[in-house]
Amino acid sequence: MAEGRGNRNGHVLVPLAALIRRELRSEKMEKPSVRYGCAAQSKKGEDYFLMKTDCQRVPGNPSSTFSVFAIFDGHNGNAAAIYTRENLLSHVMSAVPRGLGRDEWLQALPRALVAGFVKTDKEFQSRGETSGTTATFVIVDGWTVTVASVGDSRCILDAQGGAVSTLTVDHRLEENVEERERVSASGGEVGRLSIVGGAEIGPLRCWPGGLCLSRSIGDMDVGEFIVPIPYVKQVKLSNAGGRLIIASDGIWDALSSEDAAKSCRGLPAELAARQVVKEALKTWGLKDDTTCIVVDIIPPDDLSTPPPPPKKQSKLRALLFRKRSHDSATKLSKKLSAVGIVEELFEEGSAMLAERLGNDECNKQSTSGLFVCAICQVDLAPSEGISVHAGSIFSISSKPWQGPFLCADCRNKKDAMEGKRPSRVKVV
Ligand SMILES: [Zn+2]
Repeated sequence: MAEGRGNRNGHVLVPLAALIRRELRSEKMEKPSVRYGCAAQSKKGEDYFLMKTDCQRVPGNPSSTFSVFAIFDGHNGNAAAIYTRENLLSHVMSAVPRGLGRDEWLQALPRALVAGFVKTDKEFQSRGETSGTTATFVIVDGWTVTVASVGDSRCILDAQGGAVSTLTVDHRLEENVEERERVSASGGEVGRLSIVGGAEIGPLRCWPGGLCLSRSIGDMDVGEFIVPIPYVKQVKLSNAGGRLIIASDGIWDALSSEDAAKSCRGLPAELAARQVVKEALKTWGLKDDTTCIVVDIIPPDDLSTPPPPPKKQSKLRALLFRKRSHDSATKLSKKLSAVGIVEELFEEGSAMLAERLGNDECNKQSTSGLFVCAICQVDLAPSEGISVHAGSIFSISSKPWQGPFLCADCRNKKDAMEGKRPSRVKVV
């Protein structure tokens, strides 16, 4: 498992004591630095992005700084993309319980991201505007990268050593069989556009609405089986750092993940983003909005150079994801980080809210002593809250009177997303 880097005896396994020593050294190291750049070519003016490197987990404490990078690729207008760019971050942060230490905060993010995405969708829909958007939302805190996404704006990781992996799942009906089955089971009809004469053209879409995506924010004129529940993945990079490439489908329709990563290796982030866009346009031409963000996570003793091209690489082991075991998670994480392996801390893509919000061991109460809705964070009287598990098939293993709780409105939203309530699609 462990690579013998630094082991002069040539043994394959590094003694645990050495790993721990190395890790202690790395814990003392500063956080990695983050360099980033963005490039875009507009065709329809529906791509939006966010790059914010001064977010603070504890307001006023600079050592709790983290960064957010996101792409929102709108359709049927730009209102949903703009609204999501303005509101998603604050909705996610308001769903993280107060007063957590860094590790607990990172552990709370996957659930807060689900709540923040659903809240943003619900609020945008309540404005009565049409349009929808993809959202690929990346939080970088030290070596830990947390990605949440709906739609097909992909985020890839080019780890040191040249291994490219995808941190998102494409929610496209054409390619994603699982999502196609979910949409059909929730009452959506999946098919291609028929033209006069009966011929079917274009990608698979869901009807009503004709959207090619299976998840998005907004889209109130499409069925509510098009859900805003994000796929979430959290990884911890090794101390060698790595590069993230976040881009809208204008890039991915033209380039594979590998090609995008390869096209810009050795360039600093700003130039790398431009290079990826240039490469995509060369292959494909400007057919769609094309936006690319490149984020380099650079070890503190390597501030001057961008990630070197693969031929100059040390013989770091190829990227290897490791599932973490529940009891020894922290120890394992430290060991893996020390030997140059990217560790997978969390991965979940279910569209079922009950699965994504999990169980509350103790009832979460707001500071006012009331219960709060796990999605929109409004205060609830104890009699008002409906358990997210009530009446669901998951209630076998969990108690229906146990939290998290939802307000009546969010409970309706949940039922609609699961196809248990007529969707509020307006038939014109
Ligand atoms: Zn609510």
